[in-house]
Amino acid sequence: MVRIAVVGAGVVGLTSATLLQEAFPKASITILADRFGEDTVSDVAAGLYRPGLQFQGQNQEITKKWLRDAYDYYMKILNSDYADEAGVKRASGYVFSMNNPKIVRNFLMEPVVEEFRMCTQEELDQYKMKYGTYAVSVLAECRRFLPFLTRKFEEQGGRIVKRFLNSLEELADDYDIVCNCSGFGAKDLCGDNLVTPMRGQVFKVRAPWVKHFYYVDYDTYILPGFDCITLGGTRQFDSYNTEVCKHDAQSIWERCTNFLPSLKKAEILKEAVGLRPYRSIVRVEKELMKFDSGKTLKVVHNYGHGGYGVMAAPGTSIHAVSLVKEMLGMQSKL
Ligand SMILES: Cc1cc2nc3c(=O)[nH]c(=O)nc-3n(C[C@H](O)[C@H](O)[C@H](O)COP(=O)(O)OP(=O)(O)OC[C@H]3O[C@@H](n4cnc5c(N)ncnc54)[C@H](O)[C@@H]3O)c2cc1C
Repeated sequence: MVRIAVVGAGVVGLTSATLLQEAFPKASITILADRFGEDTVSDVAAGLYRPGLQFQGQNQEITKKWLRDAYDYYMKILNSDYADEAGVKRASGYVFSMNNPKIVRNFLMEPVVEEFRMCTQEELDQYKMKYGTYAVSVLAECRRFLPFLTRKFEEQGGRIVKRFLNSLEELADDYDIVCNCSGFGAKDLCGDNLVTPMRGQVFKVRAPWVKHFYYVDYDTYILPGFDCITLGGTRQFDSYNTEVCKHDAQSIWERCTNFLPSLKKAEILKEAVGLRPYRSIVRVEKELMKFDSGKTLKVVHNYGHGGYGVMAAPGTSIHAVSLVKEMLGMQSKL
C-alpha cells in the first residue's frame, strides 16, 4: 500500500489530501500539521475567487489552467446540495477606483467567472466612484470549508496527526511520498527564502444587510460570506507581526465605513491577522530530496499562494496530484 503524507491542514493541504484520496483510493494518506482550523491563515481569509494579477505559476498557461480548474471545482460544489455545508456560495459585487481605470479590470478573472462587465454610469453615480466593474464569482468560507474537507477526509479513512516538523527528513522512513502544503511554514521547512509574509489584518463583522462585495482603492474591501463579513485590509510585505495593530484597525474601519456608512452599525465579531504565504511564483513542483544522512524522499510541493490560496487551492492541488502520480510512476488508480 502506498503511504502518502500531506504536510499542512490549511485550505491547500486539506484540498490536496481529499483529491489524493480520489486519485489513490487504496493508499494510506496522513495529514501532519501543527495548526488546524481557526489557527491557520486560511481561516482569516474571506475566500473570494478574485485572482490578483500578480498570481502566477511557472507560466501563463499553467496559471490559467489552475484558475479554470479551481473555478470548475467550486462550481461543482455550488451546484450540489451540500454547497451550504461546504461554505461555498455565489458572490456578486464591485471593484471600484477613483484613480485608475486599469485596476478595476482583471484579465485572469474576466474569461472565467459567470459575469464580468464594466459598471453603468448609474452604478458609478450611486457609489460616487469614477471607474468600476461588476462581477459574479464564487466564495469559499474556510470556517465551513475546512471542517467540511476534514470530515470528508476522515470519512474516507484519512488519518490526521498533530505534529510540528523541523525537517521533511523526519518523514523519510514512514512515507513513500510527501505533498508539502505547509504555506508560510515552507520558508523554514524547505529553507525557501522566496516565501515572504504579506501581513493582512481584518475585522469579521455581522451586517446581514450587505449583499455585495466591494473592493475600493487602497486595499479597502468588504466581502460578505455566510455568517460574517470580512472588512479589510492591509498588505504589508515582509511584516511578521501577527498581533492586531490598533492603527491598522482604525484605518480599516474608517475606510470601510466611509465607503459604506451603514457598516457603522455592524456588530464586530473579531479582529484577525494572517501572514499570507507570498512567493513570486507559486511552487507546484516535484523534488527528490537528498539528506546528509543518505536518506531520500519524494516530495511534491504545493505552497506559496499569497493572497489567493483559497480560490486557487483546487487548481494547484489537481496539478500536485498529477505530479504525485508521475513521481510514483503510476498512471492508473491504486
Ligand atoms: C487578510 C487575508 C485575506 C485573505 N483573503 C483571501 C481571499 O479572499 N481569497 C483567497 O483565495 N485567499 C485569501 N487569502 C489568502 C489565503 O488565506 C492563503 O493563501 C491560504 O490560506 C494559504 O493556505 P495554506 O494552506 O497554504 O496555508 P495555511 O492556512 O497557513 O496552512 C499551513 C498549514 O501548514 C502547517 N505547517 C506549516 N509548517 C509546518 C511544520 N513545520 N510542521 C507541521 N505543520 C506545518 C500549518 O500548521 C498549517 O496547518 C487571504 C489572506 C489573508 C491574511
